[in-house]
Amino acid sequence: MSRTPRTLSAVAAAAIVTLGAANGLAQTAPAAPNPKPQDTEQWTPVPPVVTPGAVDAAPPSDAIVLFNGANLDQWVNTKDKAPAGWTVANGVVTVSKAAGNIETRRKFRNYQLHLEWQVPTNVTGTGQSRGNSGVFLASTGGGDAGYELQIMDSYNNPTYVNGQAGSMYKQAAPLVNVMRKPGDWQSYDVIWTAPVFGADGKVTAPARVTAFQNGVLIQNDVVLAGETLYIGKPFYRPYTTAPIKLQAHGDPSPPLSFRNIWVRDLPGTP
Ligand code: MG
Repeated sequence: MSRTPRTLSAVAAAAIVTLGAANGLAQTAPAAPNPKPQDTEQWTPVPPVVTPGAVDAAPPSDAIVLFNGANLDQWVNTKDKAPAGWTVANGVVTVSKAAGNIETRRKFRNYQLHLEWQVPTNVTGTGQSRGNSGVFLASTGGGDAGYELQIMDSYNNPTYVNGQAGSMYKQAAPLVNVMRKPGDWQSYDVIWTAPVFGADGKVTAPARVTAFQNGVLIQNDVVLAGETLYIGKPFYRPYTTAPIKLQAHGDPSPPLSFRNIWVRDLPGTP
């Protein structure tokens, strides 16, 4: 701040006190004798230094890289915890419907996630049977247990809106449909705030999710009612940390591919 605004603010404060006195409010006026700009400066804790990626989609220095095109060392099959059985080639990983869902070896609580996905140009089918996959932001068990951010081909492919790409499945439609056409790469950037549970197992703070698709906001601090359910009303089951899971959906359309997956743990949050 320069000296001029400080002088002006002192004059303004005096004017407020004077005005308050004229209205009989002098006793409730803020008592701030000789306020200084330093009074409202915070110097600690100092935010850690993080080196950004060469481009915004590249992992920054504090990211855990989950897939960089080379291998699936960070992943296992959900059903048997064996090394993930999806196919890695040409820097991308493609769903194996026979292997089923895969999930991270690591478990996470609150985090920022980046991933990129591609519907193949030869995609077939309609509605939910066209390029269906998904990212479970917390995998709370086998199969499709957890909280699914939907992945599918929603480029000129109508379905129920709380099930289209970018939806928190069966709970929250995306704010916009920002799909690129099949064959193009899509990106998701997600902030996941895990639910908090009391000692009795009841939820005390619900899960929240903010998400961007292709750089455009699609979920804005959405509060979830519980885990994703295909049928019925969602409800919570307590957990503390959980893997991130990718879905091998059972529809017969050709499988999707993924690339450039990384996550940043957000410690220090409940
Ligand atoms: Mg799905």
